[in-house]
This record gives sequence, structure tokens and C-alpha cells, in this order.
Amino acid sequence: MTTLLPTSIVGSLPKPAWLAQPETLWSPWKLAGDELAEGKQDALRIAVQEQGRRGIHIVSDGEQTRQHFVTTFIEHLTGVDFEQRETVRIRNRYDASVPTVVGAVSRERPVFVDDARFLRQQTDQPIKWALPGPMTMIDTLYDRHYKSREKLAWEFATILNQEARELEAAGVDIIQFDEPAFNVFFDEVRDWGVAALERATEGLRAETAVHICYGYGIKANNDWKATLGAQWRQYEETFPLLQRSTIDIVSLECHHSHVPMELVELVRGKKVMLGAIDVASETIESPEDVADTLRSALRFVDADKLVPSTNCGMAPLPRDVALGKLSALSAGAAIVREELAGATS
Ligand SMILES: [Zn+2]
Repeated sequence: MTTLLPTSIVGSLPKPAWLAQPETLWSPWKLAGDELAEGKQDALRIAVQEQGRRGIHIVSDGEQTRQHFVTTFIEHLTGVDFEQRETVRIRNRYDASVPTVVGAVSRERPVFVDDARFLRQQTDQPIKWALPGPMTMIDTLYDRHYKSREKLAWEFATILNQEARELEAAGVDIIQFDEPAFNVFFDEVRDWGVAALERATEGLRAETAVHICYGYGIKANNDWKATLGAQWRQYEETFPLLQRSTIDIVSLECHHSHVPMELVELVRGKKVMLGAIDVASETIESPEDVADTLRSALRFVDADKLVPSTNCGMAPLPRDVALGKLSALSAGAAIVREELAGATS
């Protein structure tokens, strides 16, 4: 029998201080060569053990083997020159110096498949692996070759599909695509964004998920959120498209955000990874906070389709805070699970 309200995290967890500088995005590695390879595996093992110890059902790698959720994947592809950098506006929000697409992009060898195989060996629980989505990838590059965001996105979708199929063969149960860009470029999402995402998942038997959020709790994102007004209705644009798509699971930001809960209704029929943990705050939620968020979500999602989760990745948080939030998530889900069991017995 499958667990009701299986808990999950969106992706990243803080790395140990001996592996990389804590509370920093794009933090450089502190080890090199064989020591780095072994250090990454040790960190991944700890991430799995902490999730298990704290009652998380769907286990992730905590992104312990990658520096950044988009950049690390792109670094493994040909056609992108990391020395040639241009300043572009990321998600219409902040300027960043990014690498340049200088030729046809391709994946010469698997990127995360060995890491996923290692994760598979660490647990008998279902495992989930996150990849960047095609639109979010193109948004972090300067394109001198294709000169078309859509064309480049389709190339990336093909590459992501190759990687996803191999992750599935390595035993990954859920493959998640991170598409924060879906909350910004609504015309492109409608015109080709969802289609490119479906292309990335073509032929998979593993469950597929898309994570759309308002970003890590960093200043540029928090400043942007402050301009969005009292109600964040961005999901209203994309959810009807995703409801009609082949994607199985929609992961959204909810707790402490200004996302009106009724927008969850727009993906009725899909599984919903509901963010019940705020990753932009160092305050650890109480189990009752989590339970409240889940109870209000249950008005718009069937109980057998609700996956309690975090709003986004937790890489920038202090480690003890992130781990405390895992425990709160489990405890909150347990409260509601018991209520649901009581209601049906
Ligand atoms: Zn996110």
C-alpha cells in the first residue's frame, strides 16, 4: 500500500562546510580530484540519511554533487563556451554574466547518471532527480549560434530527454524539471514552453514533475516578490496549460507566499507537490503551520494526489535550519495523514 501524503523536497539541501562554503549559491568546492569525488558521495549519503531519519518519503540527492541547478548541467554540454561571457538579464530580474552558445549544443556523455545510480544504492525509498527545464536553461545563456530562444530550447529538450531516459534506467522513479522561467515568460510558455518540456519527457515510464517557483530566498528574488502585489497569480497563466499536458506532477510554492490557494484547482487531476515550507525564512515552521497549509490545499487537490514538499531548494539556508524544516514537514504531514485516516475509519 502506498503512503498517503508522501513527503518530498524540491531539490537542494545545504552542503557540509568541508565540501563547499555554506549559505552561498555557486559556492566553489573546497576539495579537488579524487577527494572531491569522494566528498560529494559522502555528502550525498548524509543527505539521504537525514531525509530518511526525518521521515521524508521521496528521497532526493539534495543536489550535493552539483554547484548550481542549471549551470552544472550546461557545463557538461558541448557548444557552450564558459570563457566567453556576456551580461544578460536573468528571468527579467537581475543581470548576470553568463556563458555563450557558440555552436551546436550536444551531450557527449551522461551528466548525472552515475550520481543517480549512487543515490539508488543508498535507499529503498522512491527517488527523485531534478534537471533544469529547457526554458530556464536558455534564460541563463547568451546565444550567438541559434539566435532563437525557441530553437535552442528544443535542442536542450532533446538533450534533457537523453539524460532523463538514462536516469530512469538507473532506477530514478520521478524525474523533475525545474522551470522557474515559467513564472515569467507567459507568452513563450504558451507558444512552445510546455511543448518543449513534454519533448524532454517523451517516452519516459518514470513519473515526471515540473517545479515552478518564485526562486531561492536570495535578495534579487525577494525584491522581485515585493513588486508582485498582494496576490501572486502567475500560476494562473501556466497551470491550465500544464493541466492539459502529459506532465504527472506540478510542484509549486505556497507557504508564506501570496499565491492564492484556489489556483491549485487549475491543475486538478495532476499530483501536486505543495510547498508547505518557506525556504526564504530561517524560522522553522511548526508542524501545525505545515498542517494548516496542507489542510487548506486539500480543498483543491485530492488527498491521494497531494505530496507535501518545500517551496524550493534549501541550499542557501543554514544546515540545522534546513534539517529542522525537514522534520517539521514530516510532522505536519503526519498530523493531516492521521486526520484523513480518522475521517475514513
Ligand atoms: Zn524553486
